[in-house]
Amino acid sequence: MTALAWKLTCVDCATDYPGLELRNRCQCGGTLDVVHDFSAVADSLSTAYFDQRLGARLPADRSGVWRFRELILPLSPDEIVTKPEGNTNLYRAARVADYVGLDDFQLKHEGENPTASFKDRGMTVGISLAKKLGMTRVACASTGNTSASLAAYAAQAGMKAYVFIPEGKIAYGKLSQALAYGARTIQIAGDFDRAMQLVEALCDQEGIYLLNSINPFRIEGQKAIGFELLQDLNWEVPDWIVLPGGNLGNNSALSKGLYELKELGLIDRLPRIAVIQAEGANPLYTAYTTGRDLVPVAQAETIATAIRIGNPVSFQKSMRGILASDGIVEQVSDQEILDAKAQVDAAGIGAEPASCTTVAGAKKLVARGVIGPKQRVCGILTGHLLKDSDTVVGYHRDELAGIKGNYANPPISVAANLAEVLKHIRD
Ligand SMILES: *Cc1c(COP(=O)(O)O)cnc(C)c1O
Ligand SMILES: [Zn+2]
Repeated sequence: MTALAWKLTCVDCATDYPGLELRNRCQCGGTLDVVHDFSAVADSLSTAYFDQRLGARLPADRSGVWRFRELILPLSPDEIVTKPEGNTNLYRAARVADYVGLDDFQLKHEGENPTASFKDRGMTVGISLAKKLGMTRVACASTGNTSASLAAYAAQAGMKAYVFIPEGKIAYGKLSQALAYGARTIQIAGDFDRAMQLVEALCDQEGIYLLNSINPFRIEGQKAIGFELLQDLNWEVPDWIVLPGGNLGNNSALSKGLYELKELGLIDRLPRIAVIQAEGANPLYTAYTTGRDLVPVAQAETIATAIRIGNPVSFQKSMRGILASDGIVEQVSDQEILDAKAQVDAAGIGAEPASCTTVAGAKKLVARGVIGPKQRVCGILTGHLLKDSDTVVGYHRDELAGIKGNYANPPISVAANLAEVLKHIRD
């Protein structure tokens, strides 16, 4: 057997572990990075090398994750569990660009993944590794999208899935996916942060494979958002990439991937990364603006349930990536999130609330002069509109507590005759 081309390294104390060791954290409690040895492949990699896989028929080449497998995890195509994922569209909408105050603003819609969120990019790698390790049981704590993705990939791989979700705080689009794909779904009488502690303890004790974003292989898969975005842009690096931050795995992944691309010489500079948090779940924002360490938010609260997280597991990786890219952290209110969402939705693109922190945050950073009006900016939309239809209908009926339906498009009730109907067509 040839030596593995990767190892695990502690983010805190730099202790190394073998690449296939079953562990979620370092002995010191720190989180782990996958550290690649690219020396055997570096010379053969080029942007053209990845471009020639576009349009291929092999699922491993077709996947917007595994197309970049040399940079993600060098598994062989028959080891990979793929749907395939990625290949999401990059949209330009004048209406949204105007709202944000930019000429050049594009949105990559990760809600177009197989289970309708970017979580599939990490999950395909996490489940493939679980299969390689011979695991039969997998678990996660989730605000919703991770559980939907885990449930679907576990079903495909023939594994038993356990998902832990905060009671009453999960959007129905996500809960219904976990149930439908057959995961054992356990609602914890507590918030996400509590569910996360429990599932980590459970997995350690029972030898169940943990597939939260503490799992460093999920981070490797999510790097592909950045790779594919650059490929969409013909490898021209934008000035900024803007995305939401909850548990902070996704922005950690984006930074890590882009950094590796630059080290390999496939791009010549890094885009700046702007991470946007909800005001009620803003521990990264607070740490960034005060220069202090993480202080968890005890009762995280936001209508954007996918980022309703007070104690983010990837805090250190996230901060490292933001500093390396000369990035920034911003926060936005629930009102700003839902007003931005109304613009994204009305442009015919549509996304779930957490995704639209991207647009609300970009608008705020342009207004503050941090992002220049002529700069080239790409935003990531993380999940699909239909994940959380209750919030959509609530906003358009102006029925959400503490939120104004500023751009509401309410349904109209009318008597069942043509004269009455015409009044609403000709006004
Ligand atoms: C998971 C998720 C996020 C947050 O990503 P993190 O990696 O936890 O920061 C944002 N939006 C959606 C739709 C998500 O599912
Ligand atoms: Zn350590």
